[in-house]
Amino acid sequence: AILCANLQKRFGELKVLRGINGQIHRGEVVAIIGSSGCGKSTLLRCFNRLEGINGGELVVNGIDLSKPKISRKRLIQLRAKVGMVFQQFNLFPHMSVIDNLCLAPRKVLNQSEKESKETARFYLDKVGLSEKAHAYPDQLSGGQKQRVAIARSLCMQPEIILFDEPTSALDPELVGEVLLVMQNLAEEGMTMVVVTHEMQFAREVASRVMFLNQGQVEEEGDPRQVLKHPQSERLQAFLSRMN
Ligand code: ATP
Ligand code: MG
Repeated sequence: AILCANLQKRFGELKVLRGINGQIHRGEVVAIIGSSGCGKSTLLRCFNRLEGINGGELVVNGIDLSKPKISRKRLIQLRAKVGMVFQQFNLFPHMSVIDNLCLAPRKVLNQSEKESKETARFYLDKVGLSEKAHAYPDQLSGGQKQRVAIARSLCMQPEIILFDEPTSALDPELVGEVLLVMQNLAEEGMTMVVVTHEMQFAREVASRVMFLNQGQVEEEGDPRQVLKHPQSERLQAFLSRMN
């Protein structure tokens, strides 16, 4: 679970997150939407401490991230349990798919080669890429790379996965295969926070949608309600621009 209360984040003078309040519970799929620059990526990055916060409270998976300092041990614990999938995949180009998947489980979870390979095979199969185990990232399509990135994150057996616009870098015909993998994960009960411009995904898969505007949660709720009958004018304007 994630708890935030009056969460603040600034870069120098620029106040990016200006009092975010909210909770994300186990098994929820929360879609975060909002205009470019409103703070979506920054918020996700705070959740796994790629950014420290400047005020308020943040507790992720039982780990208090409100303090300016956090021990290395805690950080490793956090990152092991909170996976992140980026727009640009971030696979290691010089390593095969299977080696990309096994690296963190071996290094961080001290898994044996055999165990890490079994786990990797299991999740590669889950994302439909069993036959690509020995391929290198540049031999894969964008959609395949992103499915590998999701499998890699799953190999750590995370409690939560954060997705930052996972389909934005993809050619349109490759978006569906990635969203399908994400939808399957959601149906299996994975806790997911997804920054996305895919309104159909938000509507059909998310259990909650959160609209950020200028670093605050402007409106949130059941996607079928919020996206169909937005209350705030800013959300109305945002949604009309999306269509
Ligand atoms: P997009 O939809 O374009 O990805 P976003 O909602 O994810 O936008 P953020 O990346 O969170 O927006 O950025 C929010 C604001 O913070 C922007 O004005 C951005 O320029 C600024 N910002 C983000 N990271 C940094 C940084 N490391 N240093 C300085 N400013 C930053
Ligand atoms: Mg962003």
